[in-house]
Parts: sequence; C-alpha cells; structure tokens
Amino acid sequence: MAHLQPITEHAAQILPFRRSSAPRPEPLALSPPQFEGTEIEFLRQELASGWLAPAGPTPRRFEAALSAAMDQPHAVAVNSGTAALHLGYHLLGVQPGDEVWTSTLTFVATVAPAVQMGATPRFLDVDPQSWTLDPALLRQELAAAARRGRLPRVVVPVDLYGQAADMPAIRAACGEWGVPVLSDSACGLGALQHGRPAGHGADLVAVSFNGNKIVSTGGGGALLGPGEARIARARQLATQAREPAPHYQHETTGYNYAMSCVLAAIGLAQLPSLERRVAARRAIFARYREELAALPGLTFMPEPGWARATRWLTAAQIDPARFGAGREALRQALEAEGIESRPVWKPLHLQPAFRDAPRAGGEVAAGFFERGLCLPSGSGMSSEAQFRAVATLRALHRG
Ligand SMILES: *Cc1c(COP(=O)(O)O)cnc(C)c1O
Repeated sequence: MAHLQPITEHAAQILPFRRSSAPRPEPLALSPPQFEGTEIEFLRQELASGWLAPAGPTPRRFEAALSAAMDQPHAVAVNSGTAALHLGYHLLGVQPGDEVWTSTLTFVATVAPAVQMGATPRFLDVDPQSWTLDPALLRQELAAAARRGRLPRVVVPVDLYGQAADMPAIRAACGEWGVPVLSDSACGLGALQHGRPAGHGADLVAVSFNGNKIVSTGGGGALLGPGEARIARARQLATQAREPAPHYQHETTGYNYAMSCVLAAIGLAQLPSLERRVAARRAIFARYREELAALPGLTFMPEPGWARATRWLTAAQIDPARFGAGREALRQALEAEGIESRPVWKPLHLQPAFRDAPRAGGEVAAGFFERGLCLPSGSGMSSEAQFRAVATLRALHRG
C-alpha cells in the first residue's frame, strides 16, 4: 500500500524544493490519482453492507455531496463523464442532422456521443485570455446561424484543464436564441467562475471521475442541473429506462450507465478533500510560475479576473524562437527523465475524424496546441519530484 499516501496537509508543505538524494528517480506521471487513505475503510463498509449494484444507498449519498460541491440542486451519478454527456445530449433532444457547437480545444469525448447520435459538430475558437469557448465569437456565430435559419440544438462550453468557461456570457449569448447549454465540466470540478462553481448557469453539467481527474473513482461521472424532471429522466435512462412496476416494464429503451456502489464509495471518501486538492494543485502551479516564468519564451495559461482555476493541469506555452527549444523537444527531454508531460489537446477541427466539420476560427486553439505543454500536476506530487521537472526544463533552456 506504499502508494496510498495521504494528501499533503498544507499546500505550503510542498514548498520549498529540497534536492533529493535518492539515486534512482521514480517515474513521474502527469496526474496520477491521489488517495485519501480512507477509501479502504469506505470500501470495506460498502462490501459489508452487501450492496454492489447501483440500487444501493451510496450513489445517492455521493450525488448529495456532489450537488452541494457544485451548487446544483439535482445530480445523477453515472459510470463515466462520456455517459453523462451522452445523457445530456439525449435529454436536450439531439437528432440526426442537428448541429452541436463546442470549443475546438477539447477532448474528443465532448462531442463523440453527439456524433454517434448523428449530429454535426461545429467547432468554435477559444478566448486567448481563458483558453475556453470565446463568448464574443459565439454571439456572432449564433446571430449568423439564426440568419441562416439553422441554430444549434445545444452549445457545449468546456472547462479546460480546470479553468471554467465564462458561463454568464455564454448563457446570455445562447439565451437570446433559446439555445440550451450543456457544460462539459469533466475536468472543471473545484473551479469557480464569477464566484460560482464550474458549469453553474448551464442547463446541464457533466463531470468526470476518471483515473486522472482531481477526484477519481477509477471511472465514473455525473450529470447535474437545476431541473428536477430532467435529472429524474436521466436517472431512468441510465437504468435501462425501467418504468416503476414490479415486473420489467419499458416504454422506451435506455442505457446501462448507473454508477456502482463501489465507485461511489471511493468518490465519497475523496470529495470532502476537494478544496485541499485544489489548493495543492494551485501551489504546484505557483511553484512552476515562480521557478520558470522568468525564462524567456515560456508563459502559462492565464487566469481571468472572474475565474479561479484549479490548475488541474499546469499548461505552459513555449515559443521556440525565444526559449531555444520547442514543445516537442521539451516533452522528449522530460520523458528521458521519466517525467510525463503531454501536448495541449490537438483541436478537434484538426483531427482527421472531423475533417469536414464546420468551424468558426480555430487559429488561437491551433497555436496553443502548437506551443502548449501540460506539466506534471498531481495533487500528491512531492517537491523533489517537481524539482526534477523544473530542473529538466531549465537545463533545456540553457542548452
Ligand atoms: C475526462 C474528460 C471527458 C471524459 O470523461 P470520462 O469520464 O473519461 O468519460 C470529457 N471531456 C473532457 C473535457 C474531459 O477532460
């Protein structure tokens, strides 16, 4: 159980760096799951209760805790963030031929369910100040779509690397045309925008508890929102669209998307430490900035005045001309030291799968992909481990 290390009690404890005397450095992952140590006890209780299936009480308790954390009245826990997005598209009535609009700088799962439902994705560029969906561009594109007589079925802003999208601005743009908003907050848990949790203000909010997310149950997700009937419908669809009857009764078909008791128990063990996890990731980011920001040609994802990012991943941009090396050279140098880093998401409009999809802009996002690198950011990362990453980057700059 050597990997079951409790979270650093105070973020400040990871500072300052101490040079490690360890001869053989441990491999350093981008964002490994972090365990509280209480998971084992929660799981033991879960198994002792005799429940494993989603029908047990623990997923309901996890939903209640999540509702409180995200300031959303209703929640249904499911078995992945992608499943939550799929249910969201279903509830908003996505049909073959509909358009679904999202930020191009995202993970494929944002739109995959909609594409599989026969919708056409349209990719919009991001705002350079937040790296999330550009509300001004959205407003302009919606007006143009209304003139064409082809408004999107839904707009899907994405919280990027723990930076929440600007929901009041997006909501205002969509509200003008009655277009609903589904927030892909899969990696937004713990982030704030305009003083509210990520996704707040959207019609539906999808989150993820995948292995590398800030709270990780191994796999899992949830769909939240202000509408009680919608979330009740999502719950029914997630459990094979069973009708209330002693026998199996179905008026339609659904999915097997409900979250198991086992995963919910892990989530319940971790959720209370969300704020501490955010503080730890922000402290890691602060250290990167302190150690690296003076290097010419290296900048970080900005944090707009209205946002509190979680810094789920610290995302840097490298200008090869000024830094003296490009993002790929940096990634390889880190890899040679056993340190995992990853290019910023390749925008979806550049993916072969979406070659023919319509788009609006994309040059800003393409630039972030070209120059952007995500650095190791796990909330359990030691100062020694972070020092290794910093030293490698500095050496490359000098070299
Ligand atoms: C992780 C992630 C997803 C998918 O969530 P899963 O739980 O892995 O299905 C979707 N969108 C974004 C932006 C993500 O980061």
